[in-house]
Amino acid sequence: MSRVLIVGAGLTGSVCACLLRRELQNKVHIVVWDKARGSGGRMSTTRPPDHLSHSADLGAQYITATSAYAQSHQSFYSELLSSGVLQPLLAQVEGMKHKDDDRNYVTPLGMCSVVKHFLSESGADLFFEHHVTGVYRCGASWEVERKEGASETFDAVVLTMPVPQILQLQGDVGQLLSVQQRRQLDGVVYSSRFAVALFFPPDVVFSFPWAVRYVTNNSCICYIAVDDRKRNTDASGRGPSLVVHTSVPFGLEHLERDKEDVQPIILLELSKLLPDLPQPISIKCQKWRYSQVLTSVPDCPGHMIILDQPLLICGGDAFSHSNFDGCVESALSMLSVLKASLTPTGRAN
Ligand SMILES: Cc1cc2nc3c(=O)[nH]c(=O)nc-3n(C[C@H](O)[C@H](O)[C@H](O)COP(=O)(O)OP(=O)(O)OC[C@H]3O[C@@H](n4cnc5c(N)ncnc54)[C@H](O)[C@@H]3O)c2cc1C
Repeated sequence: MSRVLIVGAGLTGSVCACLLRRELQNKVHIVVWDKARGSGGRMSTTRPPDHLSHSADLGAQYITATSAYAQSHQSFYSELLSSGVLQPLLAQVEGMKHKDDDRNYVTPLGMCSVVKHFLSESGADLFFEHHVTGVYRCGASWEVERKEGASETFDAVVLTMPVPQILQLQGDVGQLLSVQQRRQLDGVVYSSRFAVALFFPPDVVFSFPWAVRYVTNNSCICYIAVDDRKRNTDASGRGPSLVVHTSVPFGLEHLERDKEDVQPIILLELSKLLPDLPQPISIKCQKWRYSQVLTSVPDCPGHMIILDQPLLICGGDAFSHSNFDGCVESALSMLSVLKASLTPTGRAN
């Protein structure tokens, strides 16, 4: 049985693991490592310490299916809708710029529930706090080194972390990349932004009617969401949460500062936009150094093969585009390469 390591328990890694299991069933042993303490990656849902019933989406907010993707990824949308992971976005949104035939979906249990759904379907062995630091070719397999402990050997390795983090790996990745591949990866550009979640006590009811507001004419804040209203869930008994995203220029300007120093600037701007906001019981700030992909790998099928035997392949939103459908595209394209590499008929071709 082939042992496949997927690095990254974000959306691309989880969909890739799920598709691989469905396609190759028990012919493959799938292992997923993530350096974080939980799954989701940039589709993360955070909880404040001591207030476990609260939660807030710090990264991706909702899923938008264009009419073309609603058709081509119909099986993914039906699966998530029928299992209750996705629901149509019904809440009041101010200032959203979308085409009329786009369909927007929210996640009642938070964005990370999409990733958790695919991970659970994959039956993969999932390990958190497994930070990959190096990938070394070792005959017909890969030796994968991690920060916290001993190296392990795999028949194929799939890298789904943001491109700069792939380029930071020790070992053979850098040497195996062709000049053209290196140039393509060096050209990937991400936006950066900060996100702040504010958690409020149970008796708080906001005075404004909207669930989501896109803010224009503010150099710091571009987006505010009342998380439970956006998700169409009931916050009574636990209290609402508010999520604030900063603009990309603000994120870039403050990128090298500690989030603890930037948080008060964001909160001050928020108090100007929403002067009646009550006092939160907990606040969490996140710096997204790699937020959404601004320039993806050009002319790319959704992945890049670094070596075909033993297989070392990378994918993720940088190899397609930065949203749900981009990650699914990338995972689907990696599945065909993995199938060809891991099955005897595929290898014979
Ligand atoms: C603020 C923000 C708002 C967004 N809004 C939306 C939205 O509304 N709708 C939408 O569809 N998309 C949105 N996106 C984009 C969407 O979140 C991403 O396209 C998607 O989550 C990318 O998934 P991924 O699996 O490719 O990468 P990631 O989610 O980045 O997953 C990579 C994983 O690899 C792990 N990792 C990194 N390095 C290592 C290592 N060395 N060893 C082990 N593990 C490692 C990370 O911990 C991470 O879990 C948003 C993103 C952000 C940040």
